[in-house]
Amino acid sequence: MDTFTCLPAGRLRVTPPPTIAIDGPGASGKNTVGLLLAQRLGYRLVDTGAMYRALTWLALATGLDFDDPEALTGFAEATPLRVLPSSAQHPQGGLYADGEDLTPKLHLPEVDAKVSELSRVPGVRRVLVAQQRRLAAEGGVVMVGRDIGAVVLPDAALKVYLDASPQERARRRHQQLRADGADVAYQAVLEDLRHRDTLDQEREASPLRPAPDARIINTERLTPQQVVDAILQHATAS
Ligand code: C5P
Repeated sequence: MDTFTCLPAGRLRVTPPPTIAIDGPGASGKNTVGLLLAQRLGYRLVDTGAMYRALTWLALATGLDFDDPEALTGFAEATPLRVLPSSAQHPQGGLYADGEDLTPKLHLPEVDAKVSELSRVPGVRRVLVAQQRRLAAEGGVVMVGRDIGAVVLPDAALKVYLDASPQERARRRHQQLRADGADVAYQAVLEDLRHRDTLDQEREASPLRPAPDARIINTERLTPQQVVDAILQHATAS
């Protein structure tokens, strides 16, 4: 396993740069923590949920039948996604298809409602997992998702699984939505998260669960910065 080195300036460096896998359910803090960690290490953040979300948006716009796995798989194969690194415009990374910036569409309620139906299709997962592995091939990547440690990057230098109660995750997501100007009730957010948890945990293809060698961190009472510090402690100890 690659090792991480703490430099005097407080930055961390590693040769060759490894990959870090962060998995967990919705609103467990993966993206916030992933971005902070990537910035701290000088790595690139790749949010794989955004890839499933982008395909969901496009499939909805095309009027595809979400009960037709072959159509969804063919669509995934025929739709090249461009996953751009974090920028001032898109701090979590940008997502483009056919030159169109899909980033603003990714968290629309209609996408939330359908993304777990698309992501349970094995053919869709095969296409996106191949792309995710290509993105990680150069190293220096913090990859965030549901199956990164278990399936996409089984040799990741460090695997972390973030968790928190559905109520706490709904509280965070609700706060974020309200801050973005959405008029949505807490109860609706909680129900949506619970529904997606169930679909993601019970699907046959790559169900959501920690990789056997993942470090599990309960983020319930931790700030994002405290979670990053906990991950870095695991990194330097491994
Ligand atoms: O992480 P986020 O909530 O944006 O993910 C949206 C959905 O995409 C998840 O509920 C899950 O169904 C799917 N997903 C997945 N595998 C990943 C990332 C996301 O199945 N690696």
